Amino acid sequence: MVRWAATVAACAWVSIVGPPALAGAPKPAIAITFDDIPAHGELPPGETRASVMRAIVAALKNAKAPAHGFLNASFGADDPHAAEAVRIWREARLPVGNHGFAHRNLDTLDAAGFRDELVRNEPAVASANFGVSGRWFRYPFLAEGSTSLLRDQARAILAERGYRIAAVTMSFGDFLFAAPYARCATKRDAAGIAALERAWLDAARADALRAQRLSEALLGRDIPQVLLMHVGAFDARMLPRTLKLYRDLGFRFVTLEQAQSDRFYAAANDPRQPGPSPTLERAATAALVAPPPAPNIQDLCQ
Ligand SMILES: [Zn+2]
Repeated sequence: MVRWAATVAACAWVSIVGPPALAGAPKPAIAITFDDIPAHGELPPGETRASVMRAIVAALKNAKAPAHGFLNASFGADDPHAAEAVRIWREARLPVGNHGFAHRNLDTLDAAGFRDELVRNEPAVASANFGVSGRWFRYPFLAEGSTSLLRDQARAILAERGYRIAAVTMSFGDFLFAAPYARCATKRDAAGIAALERAWLDAARADALRAQRLSEALLGRDIPQVLLMHVGAFDARMLPRTLKLYRDLGFRFVTLEQAQSDRFYAAANDPRQPGPSPTLERAATAALVAPPPAPNIQDLCQ
């Protein structure tokens, strides 16, 4: 999971209004990524880690959407369905990257601790992959090191072990929905679940449009986006509608490798380059563009 990144100072924010899409321009692209395999967030009654994963894989398959997973080998250790969840992802021949053995935040580690998190997770990542096409790493909490020393040390370790960094340019706070969904489902609160569904789709739509507008405004062009999601129960419930939403907005689905072949991602693809990885939010903060509001769902079904 990640922390909601709204830690920006109050300033005179620039309003971003994107230009209309150019006729004949290639369709915008999204690479979908799923973190925290095999277990993310609270489960509602009747669901297991395996049923969640089965639903996610089915939705991806139906939409012909590729996706890249990121695994934490220590997650789900006490869950009888976690191994099956990994197997379902693997048998769908979806690739798996390294998300750290225990999802430790880099800022709580030193270089040796970061190396241990990375290396301890490698056997599980290797066995979860059908055909490994290079090593990919996603920082837990998207924390790339709050000091330049730690950041550089971590990047040197990633470079030494042959990793590319999985960037993130789209994230609409999907992880915030897990707890309220489990509460609403436990109470059989249909109105609460409907409110969550509306908030989810609104957040996903706003995030996609914002990413496109930021790309155009800050970079002068549309870039392939990398979307962060998690293997949660509400992600599974909403994935068919989420993928349809992106299609309706004109997006096509590409692999992480395809998306990150864009030059915007150079510093993520090559950890020998200075970090941190490029994100649209960092660029937006530098340009004083207001952050998006967090979905207002935390009080539902309390
Ligand atoms: Zn995570």
